[in-house]
Amino acid sequence: MAKRKLRIVRETPQLGICEYCNMQFSAVTPLGAPNKTKIQEQFNAHKCKPVDSSQNALRIVREATEGK
Ligand SMILES: [Zn+2]
Repeated sequence: MAKRKLRIVRETPQLGICEYCNMQFSAVTPLGAPNKTKIQEQFNAHKCKPVDSSQNALRIVREATEGK
């Protein structure tokens, strides 16, 4: 299991991102109260996209093709 961390980037309305895959989570709270639980639940439920590995693969392909 990859390490991942939720970072709150904005409190009102609350917006958070996963520091591992940069997925964004927003919690709309009708009463205007901070709802850290909702955003945390979304974060816990999401599956990280393997951004790093795909980018590395793309870079390797690009470097290989550009070198010729
Ligand atoms: Zn993630």
